[in-house]
Amino acid sequence: MRYHRWRENVFLGRSDFLFSKVPHIVAGLYALVSAVWIAFSDRALVSLVGGYSQYQHLQTYKGWLFVSVSALVMFLFLQSAWKAILAAYETALESERRLELALASADGGVWELNLAEGQETIAFVSPQLTARLGLTPTQRLTMDELLRRRHPDDVERVDHTFEDFIKSGGTRSYEDRYRVRANDGSYRWVHSRGNIVSHKDEIALRMVGVSLDITEQMEAQERVRQLLRYDPLTGLAKQQKFLSDIDDALTRMSSGGMLGIVQVKLLDLDRFISDSETLEDAMIVRIVGDRLQALAEAGLTASRVSTDIFAIATPALKTPEAVQNSMRQVLSVFSKPLQVDDRCVRLRFQMGGALFPQDGDNAHILLRNSGLALGKADRTADAGIRWFTEGLDTESRKRNDRLRNLANAVANGEIECHFQPIVDLATGQTAGFEALARWRRRDEGLVPPDQFIGAAEEFGLISEIGEDILKQACHAAAQWHAGSEPAPFVAVNVSPIQLDDPVFPAVVARVLAESGLSPSRLELEITENALANDPEVAAQRLTTLRRLGISIAIDDFGTGYSSLSLLSRFPFTRLKIDGSFVAGYGQRHEPTVIVDMIIDLCRHLDLSMTAEGVETSKQAELLSAKGVTLAQGYRFSRAVPVENAPALLRTNWPVEMEFKPRNRLQPPSGMRSCGSLTAAVPGRED
Ligand code: C2E
Ligand code: CA
Ligand code: CA
Repeated sequence: MRYHRWRENVFLGRSDFLFSKVPHIVAGLYALVSAVWIAFSDRALVSLVGGYSQYQHLQTYKGWLFVSVSALVMFLFLQSAWKAILAAYETALESERRLELALASADGGVWELNLAEGQETIAFVSPQLTARLGLTPTQRLTMDELLRRRHPDDVERVDHTFEDFIKSGGTRSYEDRYRVRANDGSYRWVHSRGNIVSHKDEIALRMVGVSLDITEQMEAQERVRQLLRYDPLTGLAKQQKFLSDIDDALTRMSSGGMLGIVQVKLLDLDRFISDSETLEDAMIVRIVGDRLQALAEAGLTASRVSTDIFAIATPALKTPEAVQNSMRQVLSVFSKPLQVDDRCVRLRFQMGGALFPQDGDNAHILLRNSGLALGKADRTADAGIRWFTEGLDTESRKRNDRLRNLANAVANGEIECHFQPIVDLATGQTAGFEALARWRRRDEGLVPPDQFIGAAEEFGLISEIGEDILKQACHAAAQWHAGSEPAPFVAVNVSPIQLDDPVFPAVVARVLAESGLSPSRLELEITENALANDPEVAAQRLTTLRRLGISIAIDDFGTGYSSLSLLSRFPFTRLKIDGSFVAGYGQRHEPTVIVDMIIDLCRHLDLSMTAEGVETSKQAELLSAKGVTLAQGYRFSRAVPVENAPALLRTNWPVEMEFKPRNRLQPPSGMRSCGSLTAAVPGRED
């Protein structure tokens, strides 16, 4: 260990005081021993041998002894020192070889700068490094030459880093990355690290370091960055890059400037979802991409923000007319027919736009608002841009706000059940009610179900809301029955998600028991879509509910997943003819045929019917004549709050019959019609 330290000291020139004085000590010791020898050896010899004559004889041997001993000591010392020097030299040589090998394998080399003359000069640079720039081993790289070869974009930063490093006096390492031009004109990326080697008077004399060629690594990084920033199919910027470019443009914009952002959604690109570039859709997207790239010449910036949506921004402009002109160029990109595989393709698209400064002060908001406008764009109106309005913003804010609050709506008692009367067309009396959910919000009033039921299904809140409505409906219906027959029924909508839940029949049974409502007075309305997922399970669940004595209606019939076999496989008691068919009944051929067909089907399967969306007396009359027993719609009444329902039970609705219907179907037990009606009472609107 000590030997190693010593060897290390020899190699590295470490000068701890004693070590640096070894020659002095050796020479001093030699002089001292010699002086002592000269001074005392003669006297010691005389007293030892006892006389001068013997002493003279032995003096020669004494001289030889001195020479031999000192030569031996000298030899042993020098041999040991020489061994150490040789070993240290070999170690140094070895580690230098290793460093060179390591640097060569890392595409690097060493260098040394001379800092002594106040101006840096290159004292040494590995030929491995200069070879990478295309220099021959005999060509020297000077400092001026190196400075000239730096990439113009790096010069300022590199100078700054170097100055900082020199100012620090070498208290920390120098490190930087920069590009240097090679003889072939290409740039090589270099990563340099170095340290100042100071003299003991603390003035920086030399700087020694290593440099690695990191061109391949930087190019790979750049390729990844490009992939993240640019769409590989069209070469257009992706959303993030687009947003930062627009923000840059807005920062540079002088006051009074305008800028428009438009988003264009290509319709009919469903097949492209597979992302295969061989498809025709991919070719369409690529052609559109090329056309949008060409807009860059006119200062427009384009991006592919999603599979089928492009965003395009105008340059900074002075007037609305200039923005419009710019937008016209965008329109022509999409409206001009494209040639795809010898076929002429005309694109269908929608456009939504937003303007700086009125619709947003940064790229993110402008893009969001143009997206909101796009969401409202008319599918049929190809050539127009739907511009953002403040109303859209309020609408989207409202929607987000609602979603946040929906979770607490039931707990806060905000979900209200309203009741729309279902009228017996034969008697004009209210046979029952459909329970329809409403969300009462403090600032907005009543929110209709199509604005929150979908979200409730999406966010897992529908079971809670559905059960709440079921409770309210059953409790209300239990109050309606004053002992007279037939007792009015209540129809409650059931979401497919509720039906999916194995505990749903038990929930219904519990609610019925709690409210005291007879199961025969409850009808559950199920849409066709609720049966599509797992028909076996749905059939089982509905059979359980039927066994409880509950009626089951198929809602919105004809609008969803329908098959005739469905009707016979499930234990339905009633079919609700969708309002969209009723609207055209007796006026247009198609709905008339469909409704007649449904009526025949119900007759065949022995199902009762409710016609929805009955808005006119004519519709009510025609349907009644065809044998439809029950109807609901604005012709009679909209849904009313719970407290207004009992009054509607006493109302005689106006159903004027010009002729007596034939083949009338009987409503199921508990929902029977009761006599004929003649009184004409005006329909109520709430
Ligand atoms: P739906 O089950 O088809 O309910 C009938 C819808 O038609 C109701 O809309 C009703 O107000 C409306 N309507 C009634 N008569 C007429 C008419 O003469 N003309 C027109 N144009 N419409 C009429 P509402 O209340 O907005 O409900 C919309 C949908 O929301 C319902 O359609 C139902 O699918 C769903 N919904 C309502 N309440 C609930 C609920 O408690 N649970 C579930 N899962 N869905 C519900
Ligand atoms: Ca319904
Ligand atoms: Ca319906």
